[in-house]
Amino acid sequence: MSAIPAKTEDGKIRCDACPVLCYIRDGATGACDRYANVAGELMRVDPHILLGKTVAEGQAVVPFGGAAQDWDGNLLHAGNTFVTAIGAGTTYPDYKPAPFIVAAEVEGVDMVTVVTEGIFSYCGVKIKIDTDRHLGPEQATVRAQGEAVGHVTTGEYGSQMLSLGGVHHLTGGSKKEGRVTCDTLLDLCNMKPVELTIDGGSTVIVEAGKAPIVNGQAEERMRVGCGSATIGMFAKQWQGKVDEVVVVDDHITGVLSEHQAGKLLGIPDTGIKMRGRKSTPGRYFQVAEPGTGWGGTDISDPLSILMPFDPKVAKAGTTMLMVSTTGEHAGYYVLNEALQPVETEMPQALKDSVARIQENCEPALSTVLFMGGAGGSLRAGVTENPVRLTQSVKNALTYVTCGGAPAYIWPGGGITLMVDVTLLPQNAFGYVPTPALVAPIEFTMRLDDYAKLGGHMDHVRRFDALEGDGLKRQQVSRHRDSPWPLNFHARKERKH
Ligand code: SF4
Repeated sequence: MSAIPAKTEDGKIRCDACPVLCYIRDGATGACDRYANVAGELMRVDPHILLGKTVAEGQAVVPFGGAAQDWDGNLLHAGNTFVTAIGAGTTYPDYKPAPFIVAAEVEGVDMVTVVTEGIFSYCGVKIKIDTDRHLGPEQATVRAQGEAVGHVTTGEYGSQMLSLGGVHHLTGGSKKEGRVTCDTLLDLCNMKPVELTIDGGSTVIVEAGKAPIVNGQAEERMRVGCGSATIGMFAKQWQGKVDEVVVVDDHITGVLSEHQAGKLLGIPDTGIKMRGRKSTPGRYFQVAEPGTGWGGTDISDPLSILMPFDPKVAKAGTTMLMVSTTGEHAGYYVLNEALQPVETEMPQALKDSVARIQENCEPALSTVLFMGGAGGSLRAGVTENPVRLTQSVKNALTYVTCGGAPAYIWPGGGITLMVDVTLLPQNAFGYVPTPALVAPIEFTMRLDDYAKLGGHMDHVRRFDALEGDGLKRQQVSRHRDSPWPLNFHARKERKH
C-alpha cells in the first residue's frame, strides 16, 4: 500500500510514509509503530477501519478481515459501509495519490471517498472545561510533564477554554517540548486522561467526554447561569420565602432586591451593601479574587463580599440566602439587632430552591476538539490542482469527515477543520516523531465532481474491489451522534 520501498542489503525496508524515512528490519516496526516489516513487505500494522451504518451505537467491533476471502459481500454494501482513513496509511511526499480512492454507487449516485491518514504538523486541540473554578489567568502557560504545551484562553459561559498544541509548541521550542506536546495531543485525541498544570493556577485532569478533575476534585455540575441570570431565573420562586438573595459569582454576582427581576416583583430594599464594582443595578463584578471557592471566587466565607448593611434601610430580622451559581455552596442568614448577618438553619423551602439550582445544572464535562489544517499531502493526494479541492469543500460539494465523524470547516482560506474526538472510533489518532499528529481524513463527493476538480481518476477503485486486496479490515459502528457521511451526498443529489 506504499510505493515500492528501498531495501538495504541486510533486509531492512525503508518506509517512505513520512519524512522520518525509517529503515525497518524484518519483524520490527518503525518509529511510530504504525508500519512494520513483515517478511520483507512494508505493512500498515493496524487494521483498516470501515464504518457500518446499520449498527447505530456502541463500540462493537465486527472483525471480518485477516483474509480477504472472509469478507461477506452480503453483509457489507457500499451504501451501508463507509471507508474511513483509519488504518488506511499515509502518503509521502505530497504528490502521490491518497492510499484509497474508493468509488461506489449510493442511492443511484456515483460517489467517491478519498481517504488518507494525514500528517498534521499544524494542529492542536481546543479544550472546553465545564467549571466555575478558576483554573488560571488568561494567557497562562499550560504544562504537561513540566513542558509548555499550550495556554489558557477565554472563560466562556460556565466553561474555561484551553488551547493546546499548534505549530509553535510542536516545532518552535525544544525537542522535548515538541515530543511532550505531541504525546499530550495524541492522548487527548484518543480519549485518554491527561494531567495539565496551569502556571499560577490549578492542576486539572482532562479526559474527553468525562468530568474534569480540578485539584483532585471531580467537577460535578456546570453552572445554571451567571449570578445575575440565576437571580432572574429563580426570583419568583424566592419571593415571599426570603427577603434577600445573593448569588455569588466571580464574573457577575447577583443581588435580588436591587436586580431588575426583584424590582419588577416589588421586592423591597434591604440596605445590603456589596463589595466589588457595580455594573448595573443588582449586578456586581469583581466581588473577590478568582479562585476555587464559592462561584469561582477565592472565598470560603460569603459574608466577606458584603459591607455593613445601611442602617437607614436595614431592619433586624431580615433574612438572606447566599448561594453559588451551581448550588454547591449555600448559607442562610438573619440580621441581628446590630444588623449583622448571623448564620441560621436554612428553612426547607430555601433548601428546595438550592436543590432546584443544582437540578438545573448540567453535568460538567471536558470537551476536546481536534483542530488541524489540511495541507500539502492531503490536498495533493486528492487532486493535481489542490486549490480546487478547497473550493469544492467551500462550495459544499465535498464533505469532509475524520474517521467518519463530521468535521466543522472554518470559513476563510484553506481547509482548517475541527472535530469532536469522541465521535471517532477509539485510537483513531497516531503520531510520527517529526513530531506531528496523524489523523484520519476523508473527502467524499460525487464521482463526476471529483473528475472536474482534477482528481486522480486513474487511481479510483470500486468499493467491491477492496475485497481482493488482502488487507486486514474491521468494521466498527458509527457513533450514534454522527450523521451518516454518505447521506449528505444523496441529499445533495436530490437538490441538483
Ligand atoms: S515514523 Fe512511521 S511513517 Fe514515518 S517513516 Fe517511520 S515507520 Fe514510516
